[in-house]
Amino acid sequence: MKIVFFKNEEHFHPRISYTWDNAEGIGLKTKLTKYKSLLVFAFAVPLLVFVVVNYETFKSNRLLLLAVAFLTLPVHEICHALFCWVAGKKVERMCFFPYKQFITKPTAYVRPAFDVWKKYQVVLFNLFPFIILSAVPSVLAIFCPPLRMWLLLISLLNLSTSVFDIVSVIHYLRFPKGLLYFLHFTLKVTDAKKPVTIHRIAVTPKLDKIYHTCFVYSENVLTETKNVYDTPETIAIKQEFKEQFNME
Ligand SMILES: [Zn+2]
Repeated sequence: MKIVFFKNEEHFHPRISYTWDNAEGIGLKTKLTKYKSLLVFAFAVPLLVFVVVNYETFKSNRLLLLAVAFLTLPVHEICHALFCWVAGKKVERMCFFPYKQFITKPTAYVRPAFDVWKKYQVVLFNLFPFIILSAVPSVLAIFCPPLRMWLLLISLLNLSTSVFDIVSVIHYLRFPKGLLYFLHFTLKVTDAKKPVTIHRIAVTPKLDKIYHTCFVYSENVLTETKNVYDTPETIAIKQEFKEQFNME
């Protein structure tokens, strides 16, 4: 697993597209997506109010306050990675501050390797930092008065960085049963008796090559296959990539 700063997926694959045979893509966008930046502010309000109201408590320990504020995001990402480890999924990289637009986009993310996930796994992958860093500290705060303020601070700090995770979970919970989850997209199988083929077409960072990889999902197992073939969709994507990057 690599830890990367100030880079997002575009750095690794300037363009990457997926198409599939025997399946239909299910969109993740709803009204909630439109209000993401508003939600970021809404989730930050409890934290700001809490710090301002209890500033006298934290004032005497500014260093610890800074350390907690600074460490919450990396620990949040480690929790996502930890769930991948629990679920037996590989993590490709952990990216910090990947976008300049930090209000409308995540401030960090974990990129698991390409694989098929079950619904409860994608829900738990998104929710794991919320459970470990917001729910658990809130419960502990009830039983541990000396650390109560610090536990609540961790809980609220993490809540403010969990907006995008919680929005994803709300979307996933609304999805019907029996879908295939790939984190990057979700598929509904057309004919359950036939295998699903997923084509991944990517451009290398040097913009000198187009990679076409095929995966087959059959009998609940996803495998990469050497039988790489073109479809009208893959041909169109490759042509689009070539035109965009002036490739031969
Ligand atoms: Zn997260």
